[in-house]
This record gives sequence, C-alpha cells and structure tokens, in this order.
Amino acid sequence: MAVRHPYHFVPFRRNVPRETPQRPAGRSGSFECVLETLTPLCLKKHFEVLHRDGHAPYLTGSSLKGMVRSFLQMFGAGCGMNYDFEAKDKLPIPPTKLEERGLGLCTIEAACSVCRMFGFVNGDKSWGAKVRIRNSCPPPDWTNNQWLAMDNGGEKGLPRMMSYGPYRRSFYYPEGEAAGWKFYLHAKKQSRVHQDFASGDCVPAGIRFCFRVDYEGLTEEEFALLRFGLCLAVSNKVSGKRVALHHKVGYGKPLGYGSCEITISRETERSGFFQSDRPAAAPAFDLQPYFDLPGFGAIRKYCSWDEASDELQYPGGNWLLKNKDGTIPEFEAYLRQAAKAASPEDESAIVPVEPEPTLPDVLRVRVTSIKKNLVRIETMEEFGQPPKKYWTSFPVSPYFRKRVGDEYEQNVKELEKPLETLK
Ligand SMILES: [Zn+2]
Repeated sequence: MAVRHPYHFVPFRRNVPRETPQRPAGRSGSFECVLETLTPLCLKKHFEVLHRDGHAPYLTGSSLKGMVRSFLQMFGAGCGMNYDFEAKDKLPIPPTKLEERGLGLCTIEAACSVCRMFGFVNGDKSWGAKVRIRNSCPPPDWTNNQWLAMDNGGEKGLPRMMSYGPYRRSFYYPEGEAAGWKFYLHAKKQSRVHQDFASGDCVPAGIRFCFRVDYEGLTEEEFALLRFGLCLAVSNKVSGKRVALHHKVGYGKPLGYGSCEITISRETERSGFFQSDRPAAAPAFDLQPYFDLPGFGAIRKYCSWDEASDELQYPGGNWLLKNKDGTIPEFEAYLRQAAKAASPEDESAIVPVEPEPTLPDVLRVRVTSIKKNLVRIETMEEFGQPPKKYWTSFPVSPYFRKRVGDEYEQNVKELEKPLETLK
C-alpha cells in the first residue's frame, strides 16, 4: 500500500515570458467539455446549499477557471499572480522574491500567457479575459440520494486538514528557498476526516458534468495552452508519446477528494462577421518547450492518475516534533519503513496512525506582542485534535531581549502561567 504526503511542490520556472497583451483576430471559438469525477468531489459551500435546497449539483465556472488557471501557472505559462498557498497561509514568499525569480505581477505592457487569457488587475490598470468558462450542467438523471458524506471519524478523524502552514519551513522552504507551486497528489482511497472539517455534500466518483468554454482572439500558443490546460492530454507529434494527466478541484484535496478527468467532446471555431461555426483546426503551436521545463518532471508524476497513491497522510504530531527539520521525502521514507515494520511480509499493510502527543517540554514559539510590560507568545505549530495553537503571557524581565516577531525555543516548565489554547 503506497501512502504519501498529501502535497508536493513543482519547481518554479524562472523568468516567465511576457508580451504586451493584444486582441488579434486570432482564434475564436468554443470547447464543449465533459468532466468525470475519478474520486468523490466537493465544492463545499456551493454543494451544501444545492443539497439543502434539493437541487442537483453543478460545478461553478469560477472553480473550473481557478483549476485551469493554476495548472497553467504551474506548467510554466504564468506569473506569480494570486500566488498563495491557502487563505490561511499568508506570505509564503515576499513579492520581492517573486520578482527576483521573474515571477512578479504582470503589467499592461508585459503580461504572461495566463494573465493575457484569464485577465488581471494591477493597480488601476486591468485587462479583460479572453477566455470564459461557464457553469456546468447538472449530471443527467441525478437523484438526491446520490449525495455522499465524507468519511467522518468523529473527533478522532484523521488527518488534520490544516495542522501546519508555511511555518513548517523544512517543507515549504527545503533549501532556504520557496519550494515551488503546491500540488495535492491523487489518491485512490479517501482518508477519514475530523468531524469539524467533514462535508456531507460530495458527489461520488463516476459522475459526469458538461461545461462549455468560450475563447476569443487567442494566439496559437495561447490556444494550445488553453486546450492542454483543460484536458491535460496531448499527443506529441515528434516522440509520438501521449501526455495524459488529471486535475484536482474543490474541497478536501489533502484527503484524496476532487480528482477528475476532462475530455473535450466538441471543438468549434468561428471566424468573420457571420461567425459561422466549423470544427476547430488542431493547435499549430507545439508545447514541447513547456514539456522540457524543469518543473514538468514533477507535474508528470504528481498529476498522473495512473501514479495515484493508495492514500494520503499528514505527519502526526510525534513525527513533526522528533523531526524538526524533516522534509517531505524524509516523512515518506518513514511511512514506507513503518509499513514494512508493521508487516514485513505484506507490503500492502496499512501504516499505523500515530497516537496523539501531549505537549512537549520545549516548544518553538513566536513573540506576538509586548504591551504594558507583558510579553505574549504563541506556539509556531499546532497540537492536539483538532489541532490548535497555544499561547501565554508573562512580565518582561530585564533579561528578555526578544522583540515582536522573534522566534525561539521556550521551555514550557519554566513558564509561570500554563499555556492556553488559542481561540
Ligand atoms: Zn501574469
């Protein structure tokens, strides 16, 4: 049984190419697409409302657009626009660092392919999208009893959905540098989840949604990128090899939800004033230079359903504490070892779940404020189930030389007041 860490990183492309955005006559037309779920899929709030009101599910154009846009950025066609790991995890890299890598925000004079296609805003200047992804249709023959609930482990459910962010520096900045674009791996089995994070509103695997994508005035390169960004499949003319990968979308990606396959069922192009539709010509731009980028090796592994792991698992508190500078590959090596130890004969043994740790004596903390001669500190990592941070305060002593924002190791036993859970 192959158990893997939920996310990995795709290295950044340096110096993404940019041009002045234009609206040439270019290629205009539309794709009719079919999205089939390979695992259960959940668009949390949106599905919750539809389920509650007795409506059939459909996918929003904005979530489909977000999925295609972020894939193409990772693929090497986009700048660092909207670059953040998760709403909670702010500031993974300072904007100046993005600029040093040639991934800074696009301007109206020089914009990356992704921003030219999907539009962008920078200060008071903006560029309108040339691509529009519409809401999907509901699946045919949907019945209300098809809604599926996440496997809810009550209070003991695992894994933690958000137990650590970029604070885990050895994961996000393994060599002192931001590791790249974050991508959640595919998994065949969905992990149980703590009741606080569980959703009762998923669609099962094997459900089909149709949606339509319209585009206007694309260059040949933009057209080839959009087409690949949608279905992630292309036959390489030179090597004859076929690239076929799979998207992930929606809520619960770290648990193994949201894998899907998109196929283009019909392509039409239009031209001229009368806009008569005709079948679209094949892309004239060869994507090979993109497949040759250093990040594509990782994309090929992580986005392939054929290479999906059996299950995804975050490290438990014990492992995180014992391996303060441990990396994602080191955690995965530990998972493999644990599987072997549990069952030397049977490689498919399930990896045992670690027991929850109590708070250790020494904790990594950060000073969050110094006010009225009181220092307030917070733990850098979260503990317990559900995972929580801890805080406490103490009077400033003449020997306390730390400032707000400083991080250090604090012996918890030496504190006057015990730690309290945050929020
Ligand atoms: Zn851009």
